Amino acid sequence: MDAGTLQRWLEAAAESLHEQRDYLTQLDAAIGDADHGANMDRGFAAVVEKLDGLDGATPGKLLTTAGSTLVSKVGGASGPLWGTALRRAGRALGDDATFDEQALAAALEAALAGVVELGAAQEGEKTMVDTLAPAVRTFRSEVDQGTELAAALAAARAAAEDGMRATTPLQAAKGRASYLGERSIGHQDPGATSSALIIAALERTVAQSP
Ligand code: ADP
Ligand code: MG
Repeated sequence: MDAGTLQRWLEAAAESLHEQRDYLTQLDAAIGDADHGANMDRGFAAVVEKLDGLDGATPGKLLTTAGSTLVSKVGGASGPLWGTALRRAGRALGDDATFDEQALAAALEAALAGVVELGAAQEGEKTMVDTLAPAVRTFRSEVDQGTELAAALAAARAAAEDGMRATTPLQAAKGRASYLGERSIGHQDPGATSSALIIAALERTVAQSP
């Protein structure tokens, strides 16, 4: 994998978030303030535009630039959280021109650690962490067992979607949805949903890579 892989991933994520913008907004209308679709769509569209003008960047630089763009363009909680995730992942990739599945696993772990450090959410608190933690854990475990990259990402995507669906019966303990208390129960978390879309975009991108 190289910078092109990551650029195609973020483009695919932006497209998916744009397509699902209204759905994400509906989810956020139920337990938040109805801006999650707009936040993610605007943020990732800005990332795509920024990366278009970034020629010859290393994979690490590409992700740190994408992360900084999200932080500066998105006001909601999801901007700094995903921005931090991508910046940490970029830092983990360092200055190399290419990276393998072990390096990707380390980058995803760094991304998750950044989200947890900033947002202080643990699994089970009805946030994007409920999607990202099982996805990262599954990818790491598959890679360490020698599973081939595309299959490891498919397993990670399935774990992400399971985690996303499992947010529905939970009561939110972090973020805006936590203000609702018990009334947050019975709704799928918007950030967990957009995070599953972003992981699914990574799976598709790698599966389609030459
Ligand atoms: P805001 O809540 O500021 O309107 P968004 O609507 O864009 O921001 O994003 C809401 C999502 O952010 C939630 O669905 C949740 O997944 C995620 N989120 C909120 N707070 C946290 C946190 N402390 N840690 C992890 N994720 C969080
Ligand atoms: Mg919101």
